[in-house]
Amino acid sequence: MGKFEEELKKFARLAVRTGVNLQKGQGLVISAPIEASHFAHLIAEEAYKAGARNVEMDWEDDAISLLRLQHAPLEALKHIPAWKFYARNTAVRDDYAVLSVYGPNPDLLEKMDGIRVAAYMKSTGKETAPFREYLMNDRIQWSIVAYPTVAWSKKMFPDKPVAEAQELLMKEVLRISRVAGNEDPVAVWEEHNKRLHAARDFLNTQKFRQLIYHSEGTDLAISLPEGHIWGGGSGTSEAGIDFNANIPTEEVFTLPDKRGVNGTVSSTMPLNSNGQIIDRFSLTFKDGEIVDFRAEKGEEALKHLLATDEGSRRLGEVALVPHHSPVSESGMVFYNTLFDENASCHLALGKAYPICIEGGNVMNEKQLDRAGVNDSIVHEDFMVGSAELDIDGVKADGTQIPVFRHGDWAFDFR
Ligand code: ZN
Ligand code: ZN
Repeated sequence: MGKFEEELKKFARLAVRTGVNLQKGQGLVISAPIEASHFAHLIAEEAYKAGARNVEMDWEDDAISLLRLQHAPLEALKHIPAWKFYARNTAVRDDYAVLSVYGPNPDLLEKMDGIRVAAYMKSTGKETAPFREYLMNDRIQWSIVAYPTVAWSKKMFPDKPVAEAQELLMKEVLRISRVAGNEDPVAVWEEHNKRLHAARDFLNTQKFRQLIYHSEGTDLAISLPEGHIWGGGSGTSEAGIDFNANIPTEEVFTLPDKRGVNGTVSSTMPLNSNGQIIDRFSLTFKDGEIVDFRAEKGEEALKHLLATDEGSRRLGEVALVPHHSPVSESGMVFYNTLFDENASCHLALGKAYPICIEGGNVMNEKQLDRAGVNDSIVHEDFMVGSAELDIDGVKADGTQIPVFRHGDWAFDFR
């Protein structure tokens, strides 16, 4: 992939400057698949150029993960040692930013036993809770960027030779991340952030009580809790540093009232849950809880997901994405949430971001629960947007105004 060298360098700079926005004297943890080592090296170089005091790697290796899931005793999967996550859990308290290079194999866990996978995910989720608390609350700068790993590329272009498939996906990653064809992607992202902030600010002034979704297979009313906050584009860390948690990002999002969701919603894209594909599914809610579900593919995986804990049967995110985003314009399903969630309006099962409600970052568990903020060890986005989706916002005085029509904003934010 040598011909992408110049663009990869720009991408690495974007990840460091716009993604985590690393400040002089800060440390950086990069987690990356071992096959993305060259890209990780470019990122480390950019980080030192930005004044990093130290860069540490957290390499990922799918082959090792698979061997563990295949062969380790179930008891061991239920009790992954806490020391494994010590560095990660500690770095976030030591002025380190966290950058993930992300290109998972969508089919990695397809043939794995769901019970073993769930046990492993649950124990990992428990042991990494301190780390995730820092990220979910935007306490530190963190970011995720994509990389076309071999397995992901083969999933996307199964009929092409590996090298060609990887090049094709690399092109898409660079285009969708707004790197390709741009002399200065960092400046392009400043403009992009401005547009997202305009949509966010509009929604925040409306203070909708409810959003009503209509499209084929979907008839859903979602209550938004009092004091909910819409986010979108760059966010701000506790130390006041702006950063972009996701590259790409096209969404404007908030949290629903965990007890205020009623009706049925149908998925419009496959959901890749821990390497298992769940497709063409629908969920029926009553007072926030899922009371019925079906899936044409992966119903068993969906059942396991919903059974993870109390919160995995409720919603934790409401996100609006125009149907005409660079991701959906590709017309492809990426089997990768970082991309697919930016193609389409989505909802998430599980944990809500406490930053999406006034005072949420200082509320304890009970207060969050009372405010309607969902909690879970999972946070699983699924797509509900399409060219047919209409969304109306209901204001406190009962007036109803169009927010989305035919899958796009009913307003012009440019
Ligand atoms: Zn989202
Ligand atoms: Zn999400």
